[in-house]
Amino acid sequence: MSYRIQNYIQGKWQDAVSGRITDDVNPATGQVIAEVPASSGEDVLRAVAAAKDAQRSWRLVPPPKRGDVLYRAGAILQRRKEELARAMTREMGKVLEEARGDVQEGIDMAYYMAGEGRRSFGFTTTSELPDKFAMAVRDPIGVGAIITPWNFPMAIPTWKCFPALVAGNALVFKPASDTPLLALELGRILEEAGLPPGVLNLVFGSGSEVGEALIHHPDIQFISFTGSGDTGRRVASEAGRDLKRVSLELGGKNAVIVMDDADLDLATDAIIWSAYGTTGQRCTACSRVIAHRRIHDELVDRLEDRVKALRLGDGLQDTTDVGPVINRAALEKIDGYVKIGEGEGARKVAGGTIATEGDLARGFFYSPTLFTDVTPAMRVAREEIFGPVLSVLRADSLEDALTTANDVAYGLSSSIFTQDVNRTFKAIRDLATGIVYINQGTTGAEIHLPFGGQKETGNGHREAGVGGIDFFTEWKAVYIDYSGRMQRAQIDT
Ligand code: NAP
Repeated sequence: MSYRIQNYIQGKWQDAVSGRITDDVNPATGQVIAEVPASSGEDVLRAVAAAKDAQRSWRLVPPPKRGDVLYRAGAILQRRKEELARAMTREMGKVLEEARGDVQEGIDMAYYMAGEGRRSFGFTTTSELPDKFAMAVRDPIGVGAIITPWNFPMAIPTWKCFPALVAGNALVFKPASDTPLLALELGRILEEAGLPPGVLNLVFGSGSEVGEALIHHPDIQFISFTGSGDTGRRVASEAGRDLKRVSLELGGKNAVIVMDDADLDLATDAIIWSAYGTTGQRCTACSRVIAHRRIHDELVDRLEDRVKALRLGDGLQDTTDVGPVINRAALEKIDGYVKIGEGEGARKVAGGTIATEGDLARGFFYSPTLFTDVTPAMRVAREEIFGPVLSVLRADSLEDALTTANDVAYGLSSSIFTQDVNRTFKAIRDLATGIVYINQGTTGAEIHLPFGGQKETGNGHREAGVGGIDFFTEWKAVYIDYSGRMQRAQIDT
């Protein structure tokens, strides 16, 4: 059954001004599941105007009341969790268990950020002058754009929208073209939860039309973006010209280090889960294993057996371990990288083909792939592939492993398997990533800790956690002089 998606502007569901539509396709079957508005700059103008208007009153709603909307949204997400997870698997392919986890992140974030309605802490401090009081409070910024990728269709939008909304901002949300359905559901959930019309507006359409119109609109004051490095650079440079505030969450090339004292059963399980879960399409996915030379061959044998046993299929089926990739372009990009790896001299020990047997031929399936004999200079060891392709490199020592782990442009997530406390603490200190795991794979971030990366993974901001509303608020310093006379800071000392 095909579904008709509409934009949501000023609390009204509506088609794109142009009337144009595109298709939302199930990557496991190739079937069209929804028709989506192909919006343009005209729709963006309307949405930004609605947001600007709505923000004037939303900023005056007491923050605990804004938080109440999120509590209700969390309860609706909880109630609809299974149905939303199934829709997500149909729309972007991840296996059902992982889709449930994606919705659960939205539930967790709703409740966590609802609490910010009663926290949103500022601080009081001293003054250098007598009879004077000083404090710092948080202000909303105003109107912002939320631009998201397709790989976490509920989690990422909620990580951005919920803190932005509780902080008193109004939003225009442009989801990825590949996952409009889950964005539509988030809009419906916030509507049902009582969010006033115009505070969240949804505009569906391409990055080149809707995204560009948003980043160039003079009334868009901030942009929270997650996606690829190339797009992120463009967003930041264009928006930077108008001095807009921009938060970027970009790619990763995440490594698991396995030392010679590691529990190899545990390491193998964790590598398989973090490399091939979500078909390798997580920004935190493990795409490199750096194995100490003493356990290298043993680990490769174990990984080879496990990778060859992974079952490709529709994520709605219980028998599936690895679902499809998002679309044909992704399939070709991944296959291109596998050919590059072979050309560079890496040894392919598993996978490396576009799946064409039976039902798999209808969708976008790539066989889980394992490379060994990979060296740090190879492109497959340096560039983000964003698919089910894992490269194994060798290290002679902890120092060697840490150097290799850090020798990439990205710095999102990393992990080390060791039982040695000294090695553990050196790794925590020296791994140049925003997230470090000890004896766990590279995935599995929890929403109450800061999420984001170093180096080219971003531009210094973090989402979630105690600082999760920082990006969405302005600090305002307030001085209250109750001396009854003019006092001059720095002069009347
Ligand atoms: P993408 O191609 O950069 O797209 C991301 C979003 O930007 C989409 O909504 C896209 O719209 C939009 N967009 C494209 N061109 C634009 C433009 N010129 N102006 C404004 N917006 C534009 O990335 P993706 O392929 O969806 O996502 C995969 C990437 O995201 C990977 O690199 C992954 O590592 C990264 N990621 C990072 C994190 C993190 O937290 N660090 C989390 C998840 C994913 P369309 O869909 O219409 O093209």
